[in-house]
Amino acid sequence: MIEKHDNTEGYCRKLGHFLSFNYCRTVNNNLPCSKVLDCWFQHFPIQQFIKDNYSEKEHSIIFEPPEPKLQSLSEILQNAQQRLGKDDIK
Ligand code: SF4
Repeated sequence: MIEKHDNTEGYCRKLGHFLSFNYCRTVNNNLPCSKVLDCWFQHFPIQQFIKDNYSEKEHSIIFEPPEPKLQSLSEILQNAQQRLGKDDIK
């Protein structure tokens, strides 16, 4: 049962407070947070939980590295250029 650990509480270093596993299990568009293995291994067998409840394709989405910030900034700049209809924003 995927909800088995939903009420287990742990401290989130990212947010700076305690929260329940339900949040961590669903925070990434209804998939687990990418830090889920690091944060929950002391509470229950999280690797087995991920293996049992998610497909290989979902594993790659969950643990996919975040887009580099420079690439994100570049995309923001390109979007601004497109919105303004100008090519000379530097
Ligand atoms: S899995 Fe993510 S949201 Fe959950 S405690 Fe860890 S960092 Fe926070």
